[in-house]
Amino acid sequence: MRYLRHTFAVIVLAAIAPVAISRPVFSDAVVESATQMMQAARADNHGYELLQSLTTEIGPRLAGTPAEARARQWAVAKLQASGFANVRIDEFQVPLWLRGEERAEILSPFPQSLTIATLGGSVSTGVQGVTGEVVSFDSLAALSAAPAGSLQSRIVFVDEPMARSRDGSGYAAAVAKRRMTAYLAAEKGASAALIRSVGTSSHRFAHTGQMRAVVEEGAAGIPTAALTAPDADQLQRALAYGEPVTMKIVMTPELLPPATSGNVIAEIVGREAPDEIVVVSAHLDSWDQGTGAVDDGAGVAIVIAAARALMGGMEKPPRRTVRIVLFGAEEVGLVGARHYAQTYASTLEQHIVATESDFGAGDIWRFDTRFGQDKIHLGRAIAQVLEPLGIAPGNNQAYGGPDMKYLREAGVPVVTLMQDGSDYFDLHHTPNDTLDKVPPGALDQNVAAHVAYLYLVANSRLYFR
Ligand SMILES: [Zn+2]
Repeated sequence: MRYLRHTFAVIVLAAIAPVAISRPVFSDAVVESATQMMQAARADNHGYELLQSLTTEIGPRLAGTPAEARARQWAVAKLQASGFANVRIDEFQVPLWLRGEERAEILSPFPQSLTIATLGGSVSTGVQGVTGEVVSFDSLAALSAAPAGSLQSRIVFVDEPMARSRDGSGYAAAVAKRRMTAYLAAEKGASAALIRSVGTSSHRFAHTGQMRAVVEEGAAGIPTAALTAPDADQLQRALAYGEPVTMKIVMTPELLPPATSGNVIAEIVGREAPDEIVVVSAHLDSWDQGTGAVDDGAGVAIVIAAARALMGGMEKPPRRTVRIVLFGAEEVGLVGARHYAQTYASTLEQHIVATESDFGAGDIWRFDTRFGQDKIHLGRAIAQVLEPLGIAPGNNQAYGGPDMKYLREAGVPVVTLMQDGSDYFDLHHTPNDTLDKVPPGALDQNVAAHVAYLYLVANSRLYFR
């Protein structure tokens, strides 16, 4: 009997297995609808109009400032005007760090000014500034190896370059020096520190960015700033003469009591499975010097325009809920991302898949997933639909975007619509991150890819865990 049942099962499996394997993930009709939405999105300029509106009407929007609050109101107005449901702001508190005066000069042997940007979270030198002899290290590891107390009253200079790449992979390595120099140099007794900007440009704009997050309590570190690449070159040439190089640095940032930030949320409520959530996101805050056009105004514009195009392109809402999340306070340490994961902790099991657009305005060229091992083929099927946009299937180690950290760690499947970031780190966190760097029409391919992707995952019964 047992044998017979087993045989029967084998026969049934043998009969249905080939059908199950050959059936495409998406029907011809679904692919056709996705393709039409992609084509419509390519002909629509709404994404660029949003980006122009945000960067012009709000401008820089540092976490916790009144400008970031105005950006939330801007987003609420745009989302409501587009007809999204459940538009709301989830508020939270964030440490408020404000840039002050910042200048640096070589006092001897070759007196001249150098261009710097104070790193986010840095302490002040006081208005008198700090004067000391410069000691150069060619890497963070070399600084780390210096004996404790060996840099008493010195100004540390970490001169580690960053490699340019399409996928931005040089950043992860280079950013460690921005995060850690202030603290390592403090341990060695130094009085201030400089790093070569974390960036790939040769222009004379320094790249700011957060040091180890303000929210991570601990030692305050020492005053630390980034030098522009040409100024780092200049300082290195001065050091090469072999004589002591003395500098004076003045930085007067302030750390104020916590202020209000918030995540802006809007939804297209699913028609059949409203509790199943598809998150598409970007971050609303920016650094304080540019207008945050590529970081991350472009992402904000892409995801709003794509979700709007999805609503416009379907006769009825998708099966599942599409939730737009515009995170606050990303730059200062993923504060909004953490608040979101805490606030929605009890529903993360129903988060079907999530992504963030936070890599500028370059075309998407690869579709990465982080799906269950037996769901990888679903990612390939999505990539195949996106193929007419020049998008190839990628790996299954998707990062999903910075604000996806806590969702990813909670096991929510994430995807990365990987943009061409070859030029991204020329502008990133500089005063030069402005709207003119995004050509009109540059966002269309991104919007097209996102609308098709959203349609495929939000209107399906597929699960990716
Ligand atoms: Zn960003």
